[in-house]
Amino acid sequence: MRYNKVVCVGRNYAEHAAELNNPIPDTPLLFMKPATALVPFEEPIPVSHHNSSLHFELELAVLLGQPLKHADKASALDAIDGIGLALDLTLRDVQQQLKAQGHPWELAKAFDGSCPISQFVPADGLNLTDLEFTLERNGTLQQHGHTKHMLSPILDVLVYASQHFTLSPGDIVLTGTPAGVGPLHAGDTLTARLLPEHLVVQTRAI
Ligand code: ZN
Repeated sequence: MRYNKVVCVGRNYAEHAAELNNPIPDTPLLFMKPATALVPFEEPIPVSHHNSSLHFELELAVLLGQPLKHADKASALDAIDGIGLALDLTLRDVQQQLKAQGHPWELAKAFDGSCPISQFVPADGLNLTDLEFTLERNGTLQQHGHTKHMLSPILDVLVYASQHFTLSPGDIVLTGTPAGVGPLHAGDTLTARLLPEHLVVQTRAI
């Protein structure tokens, strides 16, 4: 499937909102990355290209196979084609400046290569409210997420987003990052897993 836009949810895990001193939103906080942000997960991440602290955020990614507009939960569930893992790479210093000025986040989050994406496993047979994923940096556990801790569960995010704009086949929805985000340094190896062993993907920073 040809990938399209990437819709992302900010602050969807309370512990992550707290670690960045952000309030928890009442409704999903949405932003987007263009299709040009997508790169294969295994492609090395060029940290030295950026004049800012480049943070990793591992997120569960949802691939849509059908369009959604003013969807209900049942049609949202039907539209999910696959589940994968993505990094929402973020220029944290740039984002902090933009936030302080009340400006949109695209300069910090929508640059080319800002969304490394794994392959997708079929959603059939997966329980969306019982998915677990981990990120190890250089062999040390850094992030551990479980969909039961999402403030807005996956189907709620799809329903909400589809009230505001059309979701299309090939769109990817990033569902927020759990606590444990941090800066990438050249030489770091990242290993992401969708448990139990649905997916294992690895990349490195150069
Ligand atoms: Zn994120």
